[in-house]
Amino acid sequence: MFRASVLTLYPEMFPGPLGVSLAGRAMGQAWTLDTHLLRDFAEGRHRAVDDTPAGGGPGMVMKPDVLARAIDHVAPEGDPRPRLYMSPRGRPLTQERVRELAAGPGVVILCGRFEGVDERVIEARALEEVSIGDYVLSGGELAAMVLVDAVVRLLPGVMGHDDSGTEESFEAGLLEYPHYTRPQVFEGRTIPEILVSGDHARVAKWRRSEAERLTRERRPDLWAKYQPRKG
Ligand code: SAM
Repeated sequence: MFRASVLTLYPEMFPGPLGVSLAGRAMGQAWTLDTHLLRDFAEGRHRAVDDTPAGGGPGMVMKPDVLARAIDHVAPEGDPRPRLYMSPRGRPLTQERVRELAAGPGVVILCGRFEGVDERVIEARALEEVSIGDYVLSGGELAAMVLVDAVVRLLPGVMGHDDSGTEESFEAGLLEYPHYTRPQVFEGRTIPEILVSGDHARVAKWRRSEAERLTRERRPDLWAKYQPRKG
């Protein structure tokens, strides 16, 4: 069973949105979640998890010794799961990486707060830095939830149809085509005729060309990568 372990200063934020809908229903069946309070691994009377930055500057930095103890406790040597640190400096999360993670045994996720974590724990525990986008959140918890949600929905048996993930945005390097459902006419707008024609080959062709149009218009970066593959 896929196991997600989350190291955080705010375990009470979990499972949060992961406890409802697809992910929530599959919890305990296809995946498990355990959260760990980083402060439990701090020492001293004040149980400090952070300290002032070396070299000065604003904010606080999470202490490497506390984080290393937490990681070693949750994922001792031999634990095959990748250790991720949610970080705006990380490699942007992609559907490809999400698929790889979903094929593995689970993840160990460190959620940062304050200015982030001491660089040495990233090196010493070989943490993979993962970003969910080019903006700064106040902590890694929401980013961890985004990652776990994206992974869990791909686990076997979680989505209703086994193939419902294969036509989605990014799977073929394209954004997804537009969807329609009843009523046939909505505020004067009709469903494209092809989609109600019953001609599956024409529907597939239309969807592919719409996916290409949307990708070209909205995501020149994806379109540029898609072109060589297409040829
Ligand atoms: N000082 C850091 C910087 O400029 O790169 C930002 C620290 S941020 C206020 C606190 C924590 O939020 C980070 O350690 C990280 O865990 C999380 N975080 C913020 N933005 C994120 C993003 N885009 N992706 C993943 N994690 C993020």
